[in-house]
Amino acid sequence: MSDRVDVVVLGTGGFGSACLAQLARRGVSVLGLDAFLPGHDRGSSHGDTRIIRQAYFERPDYVPLLRRAYELWRELEFESGRALMNLCGLMLAGRPVDEAVSGSRLAAKIHGVEIQNLSKKEATERWPGFQLPDGFEVVHEPTAGFLFVEDSVRSHVDCAVRAGAQVRIGKRVLGWTSNGRTVTIRTDKGTIEAASLVVTAGAWASQLLQKVPGLPTLQVLRKVLMWNRVRNQDYSIDQGGCGFLFNMPEGTFYGFPSLDGATVKIAEHTGGQVVADPLQVERRLLPSDVAPVSEFVRAVMPSLEPEPVRHATCMYTMSPDSHFIVDRHPEFANVVFGAGFSGHGFKFTPVIGEALADLALEGATKLPIDFLGLRRFA
Ligand SMILES: Cc1cc2nc3c(=O)[nH]c(=O)nc-3n(C[C@H](O)[C@H](O)[C@H](O)COP(=O)(O)OP(=O)(O)OC[C@H]3O[C@@H](n4cnc5c(N)ncnc54)[C@H](O)[C@@H]3O)c2cc1C
Repeated sequence: MSDRVDVVVLGTGGFGSACLAQLARRGVSVLGLDAFLPGHDRGSSHGDTRIIRQAYFERPDYVPLLRRAYELWRELEFESGRALMNLCGLMLAGRPVDEAVSGSRLAAKIHGVEIQNLSKKEATERWPGFQLPDGFEVVHEPTAGFLFVEDSVRSHVDCAVRAGAQVRIGKRVLGWTSNGRTVTIRTDKGTIEAASLVVTAGAWASQLLQKVPGLPTLQVLRKVLMWNRVRNQDYSIDQGGCGFLFNMPEGTFYGFPSLDGATVKIAEHTGGQVVADPLQVERRLLPSDVAPVSEFVRAVMPSLEPEPVRHATCMYTMSPDSHFIVDRHPEFANVVFGAGFSGHGFKFTPVIGEALADLALEGATKLPIDFLGLRRFA
């Protein structure tokens, strides 16, 4: 195996696997490095499913990127022969002033995304498994849905390998140096040289991007996903069940329709404990993880058992403003990175993978990612 390639992609998780596929399709020699197997459960891309939606309440600028992401997800499904994206719809609930409702309406209006506005009465008639608090309204996005997360990562890696990429698993990257023309990547099993480096290291980004001037502190948060048993088929995807996201006064809670007819996956988007070392994150379920979710279930989802029967621990890597950081290294043009995906990045992996591949090969991209650059922290 060659120790000199055109591009090394450091981390073949959500974003790295997508970037690897993009680069391999363009015919360059590319090597993906990861400590763990594609689809592993030690980082941020596991736990069965991820929400995908377009009326983006976090910031309308993401919508054009999402449109491209939808196209790329369909292409990946075609290429891999796997069903990865299910557009079962999503209900966003809160008071009219809350971000999920007001922000979704704003993004939909600016970019012409199809949404439906429902009153509390209309929403509970349509989804009898939900009990909406007083003053709540619902925005329904019919073309939102979910992605199968581990299958998506594996599909990107498989497509990359079929297009000629090399992947080395079980290699821990210890550090890298660049002289502007060549990047030398030091691993626990030797050294590799590349013309360019793409760093997509998820919760480990801070450790591998220490030399990036102006990169703000990225805070890693422990997040717990739970699966609770259903009491009837109110949430079943086969009965019209959709994804849901609620801005409650206590925090934001979200979940998925029941895919197996037995459980619903549910989690709190807000909160989470700071993680010092991603490899040492507490993976056991704590009473403090369960309490807020159970309280939400008791208040809003009467057809669900309040206690979980399964859980998974995952990590968000937060930027200071909760927006992604995708850019070139300010000093070394041949080092590019994507970091700080702040708990909402997965749906974007193919389009950000495309942007990173553009940056690595051309030094620029036509995709509208300027708002995600480092410059905003200057
Ligand atoms: C609980 C939870 C729920 C979420 N829900 C949603 C959602 O509904 N919708 C959505 O769009 N997004 C969601 N997200 C966010 C999304 O999943 C993440 O933004 C995305 O998966 C992050 O991908 P990544 O490539 O940055 O990290 P990862 O997929 O973790 O990849 C990083 C990779 O780098 C490797 N690596 C790191 N350091 C080294 C090293 N030194 N040597 C070798 N390999 C290394 C790791 O092993 C890992 O494989 C959620 C995240 C979590 C945790």
